[in-house]
Amino acid sequence: MPEGHRFPMHKYRLLREALLHSQIISPTQLHPAPQAQEVDLLRAHDKRYVQGLKLGILSEKEVRPIGLPIGPELFQRSLVSCGGFMAATESALEEGYSVLLAGGTHHAHRDRGEGFCVFNDFAVASLKLLALKRCRRVLILDLDVHQGNGNSSILGEREDVFICSLHGEKNYPFRKVPSHLDVALAEGTSDEEYLHVLEKTLRLLPATDILLYQAGVDVLKTDKLGTFHMSQAGVRARDEMVFAWARTHGLPVAQAIGGGYSDPIEESIKAYVGTIEAAKRILS
Ligand SMILES: [Zn+2]
Repeated sequence: MPEGHRFPMHKYRLLREALLHSQIISPTQLHPAPQAQEVDLLRAHDKRYVQGLKLGILSEKEVRPIGLPIGPELFQRSLVSCGGFMAATESALEEGYSVLLAGGTHHAHRDRGEGFCVFNDFAVASLKLLALKRCRRVLILDLDVHQGNGNSSILGEREDVFICSLHGEKNYPFRKVPSHLDVALAEGTSDEEYLHVLEKTLRLLPATDILLYQAGVDVLKTDKLGTFHMSQAGVRARDEMVFAWARTHGLPVAQAIGGGYSDPIEESIKAYVGTIEAAKRILS
């Protein structure tokens, strides 16, 4: 990344180090992400878009909304990030829980990327699980402060996927794409309000075979790109509620970390670590 770029790319390294240092995960539990294969990408994306990225021939108009420097490095990174989430879903089906220490690229559409998202990992993974009949129905719970417009534009009309999004009404994307269940919350939403709404919303979710959880921590008050006023304790309570709900329903959980842009970034890392610690405690 160029010096001074607004995307905090180093957060991924900091998160991995924090998880190992706190012994929430051991080195043997970490696995390198495999590359996504083109056959998998093409269930969710247009061939023209995938080829355009690969060959570096997308137009300036297509590149600008992504917000990241386009090139072979970004293409490679996007392949492994997407492949990592597919691997996480397989691992979740076998072991009950798995988390990709990246991902949650829910703003990527079928034919274009935006908002730091190149390929849509949740869409690619969902369509693979369904195509290979590993699952009959998939639930996507998206608690990132930004609405997953890409998830909805790719999967929003499918009957074998159910997308539920809780997000900031005043946050990007300013034109939301309808999910199966959207809950828009006001600027300044507090822990108490949020947890009350989440509890009610979880009761509305259908029975499925797996939960794909986008656990963005940009709901924190310290986040530069979010409009909510949630505390660390609030985010912790959110994740405990989600994992307890999944446990009650016997659902395997595959998680991606989603957005986190706090200033300082250590606040995001702390919340990400808390999420994974809660999963370990509740789902093991
Ligand atoms: Zn976000």
